[in-house]
Amino acid sequence: MYKVDHYIGGEYVSASGNRTAPIFNPATGDQQGEVGLASTADVDAAVAAASDAFDSWSDTGLMKRVAILFKFRELLEENRDELCSAIVREHGKVWDDAMGELTRGFEIVENACGMPEMLKGDFSEQVGSGIDCYNTRQALGVVCSITPFNFPAMVPLWTIPIAIACGNTFILKPSERDPSAANILARLFKEAGLPDGVFNVVHGDKVAVDHLLKHEDIQAVSFVGSTPVAEYVYHTGTSHNKRVQALGGAKNHAIIMPDADLEQAVDAMIGAAYGSAGERCMALSVAVAVGDDVADKLVASISKRAGQINVGNGMDKENEMGPLITKEHNARVQGLISDGESQGATVVVDGRDFKAPDGMENGYFCGPTLLDRVTKDMNVYKEEIFGPVLVVVRAESYDEAVKLVQDHEYGNGTCIFTRDGDIARNFAKKIKVGMVGVNVPLPVPLAHHSFGGWKRSIFGDHHIYGPEGVRFWTKIKTVTMRWPTSIMAGANLSFPSGD
Ligand code: NAD
Repeated sequence: MYKVDHYIGGEYVSASGNRTAPIFNPATGDQQGEVGLASTADVDAAVAAASDAFDSWSDTGLMKRVAILFKFRELLEENRDELCSAIVREHGKVWDDAMGELTRGFEIVENACGMPEMLKGDFSEQVGSGIDCYNTRQALGVVCSITPFNFPAMVPLWTIPIAIACGNTFILKPSERDPSAANILARLFKEAGLPDGVFNVVHGDKVAVDHLLKHEDIQAVSFVGSTPVAEYVYHTGTSHNKRVQALGGAKNHAIIMPDADLEQAVDAMIGAAYGSAGERCMALSVAVAVGDDVADKLVASISKRAGQINVGNGMDKENEMGPLITKEHNARVQGLISDGESQGATVVVDGRDFKAPDGMENGYFCGPTLLDRVTKDMNVYKEEIFGPVLVVVRAESYDEAVKLVQDHEYGNGTCIFTRDGDIARNFAKKIKVGMVGVNVPLPVPLAHHSFGGWKRSIFGDHHIYGPEGVRFWTKIKTVTMRWPTSIMAGANLSFPSGD
């Protein structure tokens, strides 16, 4: 049994109270560790450390800040296996998938190394006689990020490198279910030469989150997690005058048109529906087949392939899919499958029947599941399942398929499989979703773009990382400047007009 502590002011420190949470291995169901849950005093200590570090860090030359990130990026690579094994051990996802998460997270660090280019301001010469004007983007101060269990390294890396490269000091509140990756990041930052207090980790639950949201010294809050909590975080944080971005849940639809390359679409759906056991906010969880012929072929093909997926402990590199995060979550996912069945869906592949490998009988496994003839009034269609469950909805036309996507409360990601350029263009232009793929199942934007959904998949004005990240983590200042030699004598009370 190991113990996970906070990281405050450059030191690992135990939680001050006696509240703790167990850390389970989802593949075996065994408790393997324990994390101390923050009290408000622990949050205060982290905020104080970050406040103390702010003046000096925001004054540190930009090239020096970025040089630390370069070093951090090298250390991430050197310590990749350690990070990967912490993720697999606590989250349950398979080794290759955890490696993929790390690659995507590291790309944000690489992008943040280009901060000198991204922070370059603009300059207008001679806007009036002898007057120049420029814009600059400056750090906000002490900021924080509250992250979900499903990407214990990548989602924190969506925010930390950009925020600190911009000159902010930072508090991370990771998920209490898989907290170890955050502490490895902290150690690597220290090794890279990041001054103490610039990056802090506070482990905890609602107590820590609520205190961060109301703390008068926190300037901005980035949140990624489920929609009900995202909405709560957004309203609570903004009512305490903080800048907040809160990314929430999803129900991502793929439309499969009759002219699609069906084999390619099936390959894509298998990976995007069952990868990471469906615990991705960009997982494809609804296949909208246009026409019964497409639906029949799709269901036949996916059902054959879904049954062949190797499910087991993520540490075994042969496996392609691991367990779900907790026993309770597994029960919820299996309950939703039963719900779908009782509401009239056809269970074509049933993950409830999954037999766990030896030694993993207490793991939180649900096998790949395929439900056909799902309709929009069923819970299994309306709710985010966050499990390895793909539902097939049959539509008669493209318009009917598009209407399903437009009417759904979530708008994180979507994609269409087609060879028709007109349809693809119409879809990309009209669909009310933040991230759109055309024959691309998981359209997760690269680091130099920004990530974010629409509708109830996000609360706030800024998407995360990329150019939107830089805007979120900085405030703009506009300086208008005139030097004494060019100042005309005499006071003038009329409004400045640029003469
Ligand atoms: P969650 O909402 O339960 O937890 C997210 C964070 O909020 C955690 O740090 C947790 O400790 C904290 N938290 C939980 N309940 C809280 C409460 N009542 N008050 C204050 N804080 C609270 O989410 P999760 O189960 O960890 O993650 C899965 C969810 O995250 C899914 O809905 C998934 O779609 C979503 N997600 C969204 C994105 C995106 O980019 N839109 C990315 C990843 C995950």
